[in-house]
Amino acid sequence: VAVPPAAYTALREKLGQIHDLDRARAVLAWDSRTMMPAGGAEVRAEQLATLEGVRHDLLVSDEIGRLLEELRSYEEGLPADSDEASLVRVSRRDRDKELRVPASLRSAIARAKSLGEHAWKEARARSDFDSFVPYLERNVELKLRYAECFDAEHVYDPLLDDFEPGMKTVEVASLLCDLKEAVAPLAAAIAERAEAVDDSCMHGHFPAADQEGLLVEIARDLPLPPGTWRLDHTAHPFANAFATTDVRITTRYDERRLGTALFAMLHEAGHGLYESGISPSLERTPLCRPVSLGLHESQSRLWENAVGRSRAFWRRFFPKVQSAFPERFAHLDAEDVYRAASAVRPSLIRVEADEVTYDLHVILRFELEQEILQERLKVRDLPDAWNARVMDYLGLAVPRDADGVLQDVHWAEGLFGYFPTYSLGNVIAAQIGKAAHAAMPDLDARLEAGELHSLQDWLQEHVHRHGRKFTPAETVARAVGGPVDVEPYVRYLRAKYGELYGL
Ligand code: ZN
Repeated sequence: VAVPPAAYTALREKLGQIHDLDRARAVLAWDSRTMMPAGGAEVRAEQLATLEGVRHDLLVSDEIGRLLEELRSYEEGLPADSDEASLVRVSRRDRDKELRVPASLRSAIARAKSLGEHAWKEARARSDFDSFVPYLERNVELKLRYAECFDAEHVYDPLLDDFEPGMKTVEVASLLCDLKEAVAPLAAAIAERAEAVDDSCMHGHFPAADQEGLLVEIARDLPLPPGTWRLDHTAHPFANAFATTDVRITTRYDERRLGTALFAMLHEAGHGLYESGISPSLERTPLCRPVSLGLHESQSRLWENAVGRSRAFWRRFFPKVQSAFPERFAHLDAEDVYRAASAVRPSLIRVEADEVTYDLHVILRFELEQEILQERLKVRDLPDAWNARVMDYLGLAVPRDADGVLQDVHWAEGLFGYFPTYSLGNVIAAQIGKAAHAAMPDLDARLEAGELHSLQDWLQEHVHRHGRKFTPAETVARAVGGPVDVEPYVRYLRAKYGELYGL
C-alpha cells in the first residue's frame, strides 16, 4: 500500500478540526436540550453561532481548496470505494455546496430560523397562525433565494439535497405518490374494522418512574455496547452522537400511555445504533456520520417498528412489562400486547401516528410545501389547505391550528425538504428488513431469544460501517441489491395489518 501524500495527511488533519467543531456544537446543542437552565439560552445561541462561523471559514478556506485540487490525481488513482478517495470526493462536494451560498444569505437564514422558532412557539401556544405568517413568509423567501444558488432543475432539489444528497424531487414525488395510492385504501379499510384490535391495555396510568425502570431493562438488552451511551429525558426525544463510542438518546414519558416513552426510546436507539456502527477508521472525518436523513430514519423505524412492534419482541419482553405493571397485564399475554402496540388509530398529530397512517401525515406536508415553494399556494392560505387535506386523508376535522398546521417545528426553522425523509426511512427500513431476514431466515427466533445483536451486526456490516463513503442511493443498493422501492414496505403493511384486522 502506497503511503498517502503529505497533502492527504494535511487535509485529514484540517477535516479532523472541522469534525471536532461539529461535535463540540453537538455537545452544546445536546446540553441545551437536556441539562441547561433557561438562563443559558441567549449566550448559548452566540456560542453555537461562533462555532458555526469558525467551521464555515475553515471549510471554505483557500488552504483546503488547494489541498483538494492537489489531491485530484491521487484520488483518481485509488479505487472509488477506498476510504481515502471517498474522503476527498465527499469533502469536495461539501465544500462546493458551502461555497455556493453567500455568507450574507447564510446568516440571514440562521437569524430567520431562530426568530421563526421563537415566533412558532408563541403562535402554537395561542393557536394563532396569523402571528406566525410573516416569519413563515420570510423563511420561504430565503429558501427560494437559497435554491437559486444552485443550478437546479426544480426549486425543491437543492433543499431536498441538504437532507437526502443526490435524490431528486421527481423521484421522491413518484415514490410518495405510489405510497399514498397503497396506504390510503388500507387505512380506510382498517377504519371500517377499528374494533378488531383492542389497545386499551396501553392506556391508563403508568407512573414515569415505573416506566423508566422498564425502559432501562429493555435498553440493556439493546446491542449498544456498555459504556458508550446514555439515556435522558426531554420534551422532544432525539438522538445524537459525539463519537462512535459516545451516543446520547432521550425519550419522553407520558403517564397516560405506555407506548410513548418505550417506542420513542427504541426509535432514538435505532438512530444511536447507526452512529455507533460507523467504522472507527472514519472517526474524526466528515465520513463519520449517517449518510442521509432517509437512511438515518430507516434505522430508527426499523428498531421502533420492525423490531419493537413485532411478535418476537413482545414474546421476549412481555414478562418484563407484566412485572413492571402486574395489575394492568395480569390477564393478558404477549399476543394481546403485540396487537395493542400495533393498533391503527388515525390522529391529528404526526408524532403520535401509528404505522399505517404515519405516511399520510408526511405526504400532506410534502404536497403543501411543494405548492408553497412553487408559489401555487400562499402562506396565509395554509391552514385551510392543511385542514382540507387532513379531512381527505385521515377523515379528521382539525379543531385548532395548534393541532394542525402549527404542530411541527420544521417550517418555522426553514426546514423545507425534510419531511419526505421520514417516509423514505419507512420505505428503506422495509427493504433493509427484508434483506436482513433473507440473510438470516431465523432472525425472528433470534430476536425472540433476545439476540438483538444479530440484527445489529448485519446492519453494521451492510449499512452503518460505510458512514458517508457512498451516496445514499449507493448505500441502499449495497445493502439491498437495488434502488429505493416502495413495494417491500407496502407488502409488509398489507401482510401485517391484513392479518391483524382480518382484511
Ligand atoms: Zn427519527
